[in-house]
Amino acid sequence: MDKGRLHSIETFGAVDGPGIRTVFFLQGCPARCSYCHNPDTWNTGGGREVDIDEIVSRAKRGKPYYGEDGGVTFSGGEPLLQGKFLREALIALKAEGIGSAIDTSGTYFDEDSEAAIAEADLLLLDIKHTDAAVFKELTGRGQEPLFKLIEVINRLEKPIWVRQVIVPGLNDTKAYIEDLNGFLSNMKTVKKVELLGYHNMAENKYEKLGLDYRLKGLEPMDQKRLQQLYTLLTR
Ligand code: SF4
Repeated sequence: MDKGRLHSIETFGAVDGPGIRTVFFLQGCPARCSYCHNPDTWNTGGGREVDIDEIVSRAKRGKPYYGEDGGVTFSGGEPLLQGKFLREALIALKAEGIGSAIDTSGTYFDEDSEAAIAEADLLLLDIKHTDAAVFKELTGRGQEPLFKLIEVINRLEKPIWVRQVIVPGLNDTKAYIEDLNGFLSNMKTVKKVELLGYHNMAENKYEKLGLDYRLKGLEPMDQKRLQQLYTLLTR
């Protein structure tokens, strides 16, 4: 049985998918987003080893609270970086009657990704930026994995929640939301779109890790402005 690398577990999560959820943050990420809250998940050799039995037994503890909508979310880091392990975990959870979601950044896709996605009930997709050049600048990655993911999600007709971080001076404009609307029109199974305001609470983590925080001094996103941008979404 495959083993994975785990960064941390959150119980009673209420923001990473519907209902009450146990969230497994898998270790490792190929991206280096300027606003990343979890730079301690980047190193693929970090975290600790975990097996499927542990995932299932931890997930089962939350079962009384999941109700109809809740379940497990695999987040990260980038969970698709461990596609084989992820697929096995999703299958094992399904056998226990536990629903699951994959929270992906669209910065990684390989031959195991589609098989993992096929086993999930829901995808949460963080759209980093619609523009290829800005996406690269923001994440250090190209948009190819994102387009492959969208093709697979459309083909498998997987329900999807889209999330977009709104960063002052980067994408907090009407023009950007219009671009986003156009981008999302190519995705057939979007059930929800969330705009998440940038905040700078991770700055200290970077200092502790000896990493450079590229957005130093940037103010958090104004909540009123965020609400205005919400009204421009067409889905
Ligand atoms: S994809 Fe997520 S975990 Fe990876 S660097 Fe970006 S924000 Fe951080």
